[in-house]
Amino acid sequence: MTRLIFLGPPGAGKGTQAKQLSHSCDVPHISTGDIFRAAVAQQTELGKKAQSYLNSGELVPDELTLGLVRERLAVEDTEQGWILDGFPRNVEQATFLDELLQEIEQPLDCVVNLEAHDEVVLSRLIQRGLVEGRSDDTEDTIRNRLDVYRKNTEPLIDFYRNRQKLVSVNSNQPIEKVAEDLLKVVEI
Ligand code: ADP
Repeated sequence: MTRLIFLGPPGAGKGTQAKQLSHSCDVPHISTGDIFRAAVAQQTELGKKAQSYLNSGELVPDELTLGLVRERLAVEDTEQGWILDGFPRNVEQATFLDELLQEIEQPLDCVVNLEAHDEVVLSRLIQRGLVEGRSDDTEDTIRNRLDVYRKNTEPLIDFYRNRQKLVSVNSNQPIEKVAEDLLKVVEI
């Protein structure tokens, strides 16, 4: 059984590592960012509402985000576990998730905190903006995402440390080395 959360600033490599690990563990990789980007691309109702938040690097409001996670965790493919990437992103979302996991009797294994320095994440995101053309990987939006991360998401490090769920991995390293260190700490 694998039920993990990935925490860390934008550009820390959450998506990359979560995707790889979800393949090796054969559990779904659930990225709220990917879900929102797909909704924006398809211009669904959710996408239309979420678009401006993604473009500015603000958090999509909880009333659009919480229900989506509840529905995703009710899909059958989550029976053997899941890896959450980009959720929770603030204390309200973490509290909601705590209650939801109790309700559906799916206890969390651990929270992986990917630690990366500001200059490392900045250069990775600028590079990704050039290569992939992601509309939120522009310098102004990146700075805002880092501010939003510090204000809203970083407090979750203590939130999960207090629940004895937190493990940390040095993410200032090449992808393969981070993946290797990750396997050692998650013990799967
Ligand atoms: P990154 O971690 O590099 O910022 P993500 O794909 O996780 O990339 O998130 C991209 C954007 O999607 C965020 O800036 C935010 O607007 C939105 N988003 C993703 N997850 C959440 C969430 N849990 N709550 C609110 N907004 C979210």
